[in-house]
Amino acid sequence: MSATSPQPMFGTVAFIGIGLIGASLALAMKRHGMAGRILAAARRQETLDTALRLGIADDASTDIADVVKDADLVMVCTPVGVCGEVARAIAPFLKPGAIVSDVGSVKGAVIRDMKAALPPSVAFVPGHPLAGTEFSGPEAGFAELFEGRWCVLTPLPETPRAAVEIVAEMWRKAGSNVDTMDPEHHDQVLAITSHLPHLIAYTIVGTAVDLGTDIKQEVIKYSASGFRDFTRIAASDPVMWRDVFLNNRDAVLDVLQRFTEDLTALQRAIRRGEGDTLERHFTRTRAIRRGIIDAKQA
Ligand code: NAP
Repeated sequence: MSATSPQPMFGTVAFIGIGLIGASLALAMKRHGMAGRILAAARRQETLDTALRLGIADDASTDIADVVKDADLVMVCTPVGVCGEVARAIAPFLKPGAIVSDVGSVKGAVIRDMKAALPPSVAFVPGHPLAGTEFSGPEAGFAELFEGRWCVLTPLPETPRAAVEIVAEMWRKAGSNVDTMDPEHHDQVLAITSHLPHLIAYTIVGTAVDLGTDIKQEVIKYSASGFRDFTRIAASDPVMWRDVFLNNRDAVLDVLQRFTEDLTALQRAIRRGEGDTLERHFTRTRAIRRGIIDAKQA
């Protein structure tokens, strides 16, 4: 008797946005046989041509309606600022019973914008894979991106549990660990773990760029002494990060206020020569790094 390949989890999956995250998930789905057919939509034909050339999608169109109408799962993988607009565009064409999910780095604002547009006949499972690089576009995608990383789902009270479990299973097959969280809590946690570090990196690199030309050259030459890691983070996509800060404003401003106060305290310790204060602070923060290594998130 010949072995039959197992049924994929989804017949047709539609990706709206096929950049770093969309392309990586599509490639992971292909590798693990999760979809019968993968379709992609984006704004630019050039993006879709690249996705087709690289075998990320089986078919593609700039016409969103065409892409979503037969989809069992629609993954919205655009910058968070346009998720509401995308939800309004796809809403009239969604198949009843379809699952709609997203990967946006902010959850409160995305849920507010998408929920208002989506019909009750579909299940909305908001999500955020905590994985990424400083690169964008379909060429940046790779199937292993989510392996060993967390994916946070922030379902709504009305989201059917079965749909949440299917999306969770998809991320587990892509190699992720899955957690569920309240959207507001997600946005507070990400404000400190991801959004503030990006803002700091953008600031430091900007400060260095504004220094005099003589110092600027040395900054590049000696960047390995610490600056280099900030330049990698500060090379992240400008549109994506503009949208993150505009859409997680309250949580970012709250954590930025605390950060500014802590920075002022360290500034005072340096000015007053309070070595004990500095050493105590640095010893405490060193333990955090050890915790991250132990949690295999280094
Ligand atoms: P990306 O590489 O820049 O890709 C964005 C994609 O969205 C492109 O295919 C773009 O198409 C498409 N797009 C933009 N506006 C659109 C619109 N109005 N209608 C249809 N398609 C549109 O971005 P990414 O890094 O994959 O990020 C996508 C999402 O993942 C964001 O919400 C981000 O917050 C989240 N995320 C990112 C990371 C990360 O590290 N990068 C990590 C976790 C989550 P065109 O090329 O045609 O413009």
